[in-house]
Amino acid sequence: MDRRSFMLAPPALALSSLILPSTSFSASPAIHNKMQLLPANSKGPRIVICGGGWGGMTAARYLRELIPTAEVVLLERNPTFWSGPMSNKWLIDIVNTDFVNHDMLGPANKYGYTLINTEVTGFDRNKKTVHTAQGQLTYDFLILSGGIRNAYDAWFGNDLHAAEYTRKHFPNAYIPNAEMFALKDKLKNFKGGTIVMTLPPPPHRCPPSPYERACLMAWHIKTNNIPGKIIILDPKPNIAPIGEGYRAAFEELYPDIITHVPNAVVREVDPFKKHIKTTAGDFDFDDAVLMPPHQAADMVWYADLIGKGPDGKPTGWADIHPRFFTAMDDEDVYVVGDAMGFISDQFGHYPKSAHVAHAIGKIVAQNISERVAGKEVVPVLPDNLCYMMVNGDPQEEISVVFEYELDPTGKVLQTQIDMDVRTNDLVAKDFDWIQSRFNDFL
Ligand SMILES: Cc1cc2nc3c(=O)[nH]c(=O)nc-3n(C[C@H](O)[C@H](O)[C@H](O)COP(=O)(O)OP(=O)(O)OC[C@H]3O[C@@H](n4cnc5c(N)ncnc54)[C@H](O)[C@@H]3O)c2cc1C
Repeated sequence: MDRRSFMLAPPALALSSLILPSTSFSASPAIHNKMQLLPANSKGPRIVICGGGWGGMTAARYLRELIPTAEVVLLERNPTFWSGPMSNKWLIDIVNTDFVNHDMLGPANKYGYTLINTEVTGFDRNKKTVHTAQGQLTYDFLILSGGIRNAYDAWFGNDLHAAEYTRKHFPNAYIPNAEMFALKDKLKNFKGGTIVMTLPPPPHRCPPSPYERACLMAWHIKTNNIPGKIIILDPKPNIAPIGEGYRAAFEELYPDIITHVPNAVVREVDPFKKHIKTTAGDFDFDDAVLMPPHQAADMVWYADLIGKGPDGKPTGWADIHPRFFTAMDDEDVYVVGDAMGFISDQFGHYPKSAHVAHAIGKIVAQNISERVAGKEVVPVLPDNLCYMMVNGDPQEEISVVFEYELDPTGKVLQTQIDMDVRTNDLVAKDFDWIQSRFNDFL
């Protein structure tokens, strides 16, 4: 049976006919509780989603709608949903905490899926079982939507003390957790000095958002007359995306505050002496937002679904089918959102954005429903749209749109449109965008 015909098979056929590679794997050092979390579902397929962020909550909501017989179980470690989009604006109080932080039980009850607050600790894909801190459960289809992890080991190797010290003292708040409050408190209490911000090398979560954060932190520094500076250490040769719009904002709005340093690949970080060595020079700092390289969340590593590069080394991202979003070596496992790996040699990865995670969550729900119904799965591609605030008063934003199409050979092609002129109109569009998404899955 070839790959395509399997893709179209309904789950009963799929389960009995697919010969899966031997991938019984659970690399997590964590607890392997043998207790069953839920009894088997007798009516329809059980679909387990690991990670209740933008991608996971969207998939859960659409799966229940599209497959009424399915039992949909969402596993999430955090008690509440925290949105990355708008979190930079929340840092300077343009929106309040209720805007970015939401209850998850309400949506689970509204749409009819089961939410379990627990840590996903490993998988046995041969037995189609997920291990969690509270017990294990089986699945017919599995969706991994765990987002990203901070790869501090790229800087510190096995020096866990340096990694933990960096996370504690120079949090980057790029993962929905308590670091968000730590960064906000830090900014509120900033009395002056040099803040260094390291950007991760691509691909990383929400490429334009570190520049947005720099602008809004600079706006706070400017409006409060704080004698502070922000140095952006960017491994790329140019600001991207929306490079012209950001360059104009840095030069016209924050000329004495923001310095953008291109080609600054981090060589060495000493968080104790507050010193960074890069390929563009060495820098001392008083405070910092230190972003190491990003990788797919731990759960993709636990599932043994990380791709390998031509050099045989792990790429750090899930190895997925570029049109169907299934894991390359396990067609009952889907990967949604930022953890997704290589898509096309024209552009590499889809932008690691909430817009894309939401779109793929919906597409994957549709794809699974087609399989369950025994129908052909027709590839559907996402689009992407990001609005970025560069000025707090008057509020002004720039934005970027990405469109995708398939060429006749099945390759995914990308078109990028930067909107570099900052306007207040884009602020209204940004709020419309996020409200329509929140209304869709919260
Ligand atoms: C500052 C900032 C600004 C941004 N701005 C924008 C923007 O304007 N527009 C835009 O489109 N995108 C933006 N993004 C990016 C957006 O937040 C992400 O792309 C999006 O959240 C990806 O969705 P996801 O479902 O892959 O991951 P997430 O939304 O991060 O969800 C992953 C979930 O998995 C959970 N999880 C992980 N591991 C485990 C485990 N082992 N057990 C249990 N649960 C686990 C996590 O707790 C989390 O809730 C921004 C991000 C940041 C940080």
